[in-house]
Amino acid sequence: MLGKNRHFCYNIFVKKDMKKNKKIYIFIGPPGAGKDTQANLLVKESDLVIISPGRIFRKAVANKTSLGEKVKKYTQKGELVPDKIVNKIIMKEIAKTDGDLILDGFPRDIDQALALDEFFKIYKADYTVRIIELKLNEEKIRQRIIGRRSCFCGRVFHVELNPPKEQGVCDRCGRQLTVRPDSHAEVLERRSRLYKERIKPVIDFYKDNDFYEINEVEADG
Ligand code: AMP
Repeated sequence: MLGKNRHFCYNIFVKKDMKKNKKIYIFIGPPGAGKDTQANLLVKESDLVIISPGRIFRKAVANKTSLGEKVKKYTQKGELVPDKIVNKIIMKEIAKTDGDLILDGFPRDIDQALALDEFFKIYKADYTVRIIELKLNEEKIRQRIIGRRSCFCGRVFHVELNPPKEQGVCDRCGRQLTVRPDSHAEVLERRSRLYKERIKPVIDFYKDNDFYEINEVEADG
């Protein structure tokens, strides 16, 4: 969790003429619920910025940066990257973003939610926070994730639900599509179990706290 004197560390990223009362949408949902897709749709129609630890880590792993080397062993097994790595990166991104934003995949456990809450307490006047909880049943999750094929450029396809024009090849950039290492059946099972164990206290925390507004959305669209 953030200590009291830690906010100076994020303060240096906050510009003096930063927009006041920024809106933050926190997308919470099981793997495969389509957080990424929903976030992308919203971004198309607005100037929202997406902050997603999953994307940041995938890019770092692909570019073989020192962050990538540090987090690879967790992301490939579908395990959560330690809070002390994630919290710092995400809070820094929020502090320096001058506009409304979507948090896609953060917080994922109660320690992350508390660290974020501490951050909002410090900058309370500047943020309105809404939680969007995406719901989807397990069979649908399995179907969506097992058939998912991704491209390095960020495009995501599905072998049945959204196939590329040419099998295994990205429509946008022509690269070979791959199966994300964390999309294999046994990894998916671990990710789903982890999600359920860790997200319940997060949802309960937001429900008990008037600063946050929660909206439940059926993701079976
Ligand atoms: P995602 O794209 O959101 O499914 O995330 C892919 C992987 O990145 C996860 O399986 C985790 O290993 C890691 N990750 C993403 N978000 C977080 C987070 N909030 N805390 C820890 N690890 C995360």
